[in-house]
Amino acid sequence: MAAPGPSPTPAAADPAARPVTALRGVGPQLARRLERIGVRTVADLLLHRPLRYEDRTRLVPLGALRAGARALAEGEVELAEVRPRPRRQLLVRVSDRTGALTLRFFHFSEAQRRLFRRGARVRLWGEVRPGPAGLEMVHPEVRVLRGAEPPEAALTPVYPATEGLHQAVLRRLAGEALALLGRGAFPELLPERLLQGLGLPPLHEALRLVHRPPAGADAEALAAGTHPAVRRLALEELLAHALSLRRLRRTVRAAGAPALADGALAGRLLETLPFAPTGAQRRVIAEVAADLARPRPMLRLVQGDVGSGKTVVAAAALCRAVGSGWQGALMAPTELLAEQHARSLAGWLEPLGVRVVLLTGGRRRGRAAALRAVASGEADVVVGTHALFQEEVAFARLGLVVIDEQHRFGVHQRLALREKGAGGRLRPHQLVMTATPIPRTLAQVAYADLDSSVLDELPPGRQPVTTVAVPESRREEVVERVRAVCRAGRQAYWVCTLVEPSEALAAEAAEETAARLREALPDVAVGLVHGRMRPAEKAGVMRAFARGELGMLVATTVIEVGVDVPNATVMVIENAERLGLAQLHQLRGRVGRGREAASCVLLYRPPLSETARARLQVLRETTDGFEIARRDLELRGPGELLGTRQTGLLDLRVADLARDRDLVAVVARLADRLLAEAPEAAAALVARWVGERARYAEV
Ligand code: ADP
Ligand code: MG
Repeated sequence: MAAPGPSPTPAAADPAARPVTALRGVGPQLARRLERIGVRTVADLLLHRPLRYEDRTRLVPLGALRAGARALAEGEVELAEVRPRPRRQLLVRVSDRTGALTLRFFHFSEAQRRLFRRGARVRLWGEVRPGPAGLEMVHPEVRVLRGAEPPEAALTPVYPATEGLHQAVLRRLAGEALALLGRGAFPELLPERLLQGLGLPPLHEALRLVHRPPAGADAEALAAGTHPAVRRLALEELLAHALSLRRLRRTVRAAGAPALADGALAGRLLETLPFAPTGAQRRVIAEVAADLARPRPMLRLVQGDVGSGKTVVAAAALCRAVGSGWQGALMAPTELLAEQHARSLAGWLEPLGVRVVLLTGGRRRGRAAALRAVASGEADVVVGTHALFQEEVAFARLGLVVIDEQHRFGVHQRLALREKGAGGRLRPHQLVMTATPIPRTLAQVAYADLDSSVLDELPPGRQPVTTVAVPESRREEVVERVRAVCRAGRQAYWVCTLVEPSEALAAEAAEETAARLREALPDVAVGLVHGRMRPAEKAGVMRAFARGELGMLVATTVIEVGVDVPNATVMVIENAERLGLAQLHQLRGRVGRGREAASCVLLYRPPLSETARARLQVLRETTDGFEIARRDLELRGPGELLGTRQTGLLDLRVADLARDRDLVAVVARLADRLLAEAPEAAAALVARWVGERARYAEV
């Protein structure tokens, strides 16, 4: 690339920003199909990466064809005949000087049949297989040749497609999009000196390589994303996200926040808790307090493994807000958890004169009164789900927002809550808590806008959870074990899971399991919770379980995060092979919260896939959430680890945080340099990759 142009093209003027309908031959119907694979603009087309490539650059003489490979071949038609039996089919015999090949078609039109005139020269692409009369191709792609035509010059891309969207169309459109590169689309934004030493090609070269790799290019590396051309795109994307989060952080920091300087109430809380805070809790509470005392919005992430006592940290922060004359809000991912938090907080805070109010979407009764209390400022601490940031919820003077189990919320949702404002130009402080430990490389990109604290100590006296994997065939033994545990006055969870994440089917399965267990264990009180129950019903069952009135709780994965019943010592997870590591770790974290030894039984249905076996093995080996997250990243990739698929937390199209780990490390440094040396290029880069979503950064 030459020196950076006078100024980067604003996104709107970039031909790549045009809708696909700006391209020749793209009407509303085709546009709708493209939309289904996430392609709306020319830029989307350019970034729609082929799944794999076919080598049609080399013509293989018929005599050199080998069974098992896909090949490009050419020959002269000797014979074409329709055979009625055993199944109607068209058989064509083609030959060249070196050998012969049979083509077999089970579906064909009359027009197709007529193509194969004796003596016609045909170009073929297909998989070579052994047949009854030598090698053959079944349903090859066929083209009748008019004269001598050279084979393709480039490898042929195979794109992710959808019904009614043919490869030929995608290839043509990619070609048109590439042609726009020469006319100002996707200008190079990264100064050459920034890329020095990375061994990555300029942007346009990278895009051409991805869509039209020349004969001999490393197709496997291109498909796997390890080729420098793909890495060049990945780098740019990671850089754009890092810049966007940095900008977000800067904007947020530039706003004012109420200085929550009065720590007296929080101090009283720590004295009156039924236990002494751990050293880690004290340290993190102090880190949070220091942030809160400043007149700039705090943006802090608290990572703490399941059971490390994050709720206490939240309670202390909320007390500081209330003690300083402001309201605090705590947002949980499910109603079940919101109710549980409201209960623990009320238990700890109301004796100190703090009024805790629960506000969820599902509760009709009392909702109006709760809304009034929030708006008037009578409510000091408001606990709820995402329903907290519905429009009708107005806070009198919101000073602090605590978000529990952050991975369930996207950046956008977090920001929407921030907009609830502290009143005037002040913004509330933000404390984000997660039990999904995030490897450092990942945190650098996904949470670049947050400072972070780590709760790296469990409350004393915890017994490690023993984990065993047991095949479905030994279910009876597991039931017996649960019986013994309940007899001894302890409690058990039994979690049902399904392949399809349908809450309806999961509920059904849970009901069935509960019925069977009730039959098998007549002396145990078995409760049931699933996502199809009314919130009040669910809460009722949970309360009964928490009070020890139920010996066993059969549940769907609704109980996954945060549920806290220290007397429960056994966790049985059915079909454990279907769940990811992070989820299994979360579920297991529901036990081992008291002083009794606890165990987790992973019931599985053989045969286990290799990955499933590896996952169960990891769980048996360690209970350390950080170690588990690291292994999970290796096994599954970061998307699922962060739950980004649901939340759009980090919507990466080319980059892969696991595969591109080394680039992630480079990106932080590049982001600083680009901001300092070419701020307009930085802005254009964010517009290109993050686009619309970056709007939130300008609030
Ligand atoms: P998590 O970090 O998973 O949200 P919780 O806040 O739910 O953990 O705490 C888990 C359990 O440990 C709760 O029953 C809580 O009351 C208890 N707990 C928290 N801190 C301590 C402590 N310092 N000593 C003893 N028990 C504690
Ligand atoms: Mg929790």
